[in-house]
Amino acid sequence: MIATEYKEKKFTMVVYRINEAEFSVLSLNSTFGKPKQYVVKWIGYKWICSCPDYAKHSEEIDYACKHIEAVFKAVRKIGWSRDGIEVEVVRRYKQKFNGNGRNAEAVKEETTPTEVAA
Ligand SMILES: [Zn+2]
Repeated sequence: MIATEYKEKKFTMVVYRINEAEFSVLSLNSTFGKPKQYVVKWIGYKWICSCPDYAKHSEEIDYACKHIEAVFKAVRKIGWSRDGIEVEVVRRYKQKFNGNGRNAEAVKEETTPTEVAA
C-alpha cells in the first residue's frame, strides 16, 4: 500500500561569499530544526555542498541541494556586499509512505515517480 503526499517547505538561507568559488550558507530553518551552516564549493566542474542531502546525491553530476540553489539565487541578486544575502528556497517533496507508515523516501518533484514492486 503506497500513498503519495506533497509537502512544501520554504527554507530561509543567508549566503556569504568566502571567495568566488566558495560560499558559506547558513540555513535558518534547516531540516534539523535549528540553524545549520554549510559550505558550497565549485570544484572545477560542479558545485558541491557539505550537507548530508548532497552527500546522498554526490554521484549525480548536476545535483543541486537547497544550499547550492540558494547560492545560485544569491549570485543573481548581487553586487557583493560583505554582508550575507538572504534568499528563500522553496522545495516540494513527494513523500512515499510504505505499508507500515514509515517515510520511505522523499524525492524531488522533478523525479519521475517509480512504481514500487509489491
Ligand atoms: Zn547542501
